[in-house]
Amino acid sequence: MKLTELFERDTLSLSFEVFPPKTDSNFDSVKTATEEIAKLRPSFMSVTYGAGGGTSRYTLEIAKNIKEHYNVPTLAHLTCVSSTKETVRARIEDMKAAGIENVMALRGDLTPELEASDRKTWDYRHAIDLIRDIKESGADFCIGGACYPEIHPESENQAEDIRHLKEKVDAGCSFLTTQMFFDNNLLYNFLYKIREAGIVVPIIPGIMPITNANQVERAIKLSGSFMPQRFKSLVDKFGSSPAAMKQAGIAYATDQIIDLFANGIKNVHVYSMNKPDVAEKILDNLSDILG
Ligand code: FAD
Repeated sequence: MKLTELFERDTLSLSFEVFPPKTDSNFDSVKTATEEIAKLRPSFMSVTYGAGGGTSRYTLEIAKNIKEHYNVPTLAHLTCVSSTKETVRARIEDMKAAGIENVMALRGDLTPELEASDRKTWDYRHAIDLIRDIKESGADFCIGGACYPEIHPESENQAEDIRHLKEKVDAGCSFLTTQMFFDNNLLYNFLYKIREAGIVVPIIPGIMPITNANQVERAIKLSGSFMPQRFKSLVDKFGSSPAAMKQAGIAYATDQIIDLFANGIKNVHVYSMNKPDVAEKILDNLSDILG
């Protein structure tokens, strides 16, 4: 199923993101975790792409497994900045052959090696280049893109970021998933601005349940997200007790999701970090809301 079909529905839905194994040796444990999440029947599952090759082939393997054996629609991520045109073309053909219908087209993060290299030698500079190549390939994918309620870290200002986002959508993105955020007002503010800029595709908010204190620093470093005092207090109080922190982090994420649904958002994506127990708890918390 193309995700645009899901987003057109009038019902509330929750989806989960998983990531492929970083090494060959933990493929089986990751596969099992993604299957456990698929059994919870989320509206769809996205599978991230390890930029720079390595275990990137597993993205497709996991996405195909979830779709074929659990009948859960999948969204396979693909990054481009560290790839050649030939590699990307081959990945697109692999996706077509695997029956993938939804692709998240991303630039990927700049590694120090890339930063140090001559940009003129890069085949891809931005996600929009990948989106154009996918379109040109003739593949009939529903294409998603990333967006940043708190501005992409490399952007000089939000107006510029939103201008590039509009170009990305005009090039063929049918929906956008947001970077994680911990204060819903930032999302509402962002929505207002992008709608004003003429971006009308569905926006899928991405929520990260922080279930252990070590995750906090990593999440902020990765996303540059603002941590509200309310969240900081929770980490200060419960961070030293793994069980309490997990419960509090799940409650905080649940609260964010309920507020989003209450304010007109229909589809929320949860960065479930390959944790079936966290995904299950959040779904339990929302059982009557999701119906
Ligand atoms: P772009 O859309 O190219 O934007 C990057 C920067 O360039 C922005 O500052 C933008 O304003 C600017 N820009 C865009 N177009 C132009 C232009 N034409 N001219 C000048 N400037 C421009 N990373 C992975 O490696 N694997 C994943 O699976 C993955 N999944 C992700 C999922 C989501 C929902 C999100 C939010 C991020 C994900 N990332 C993933 C991280 C992502 O690769 C990084 O955030 C990366 O730095 C930017 O990717 P992008 O596709 O948003 O890039």
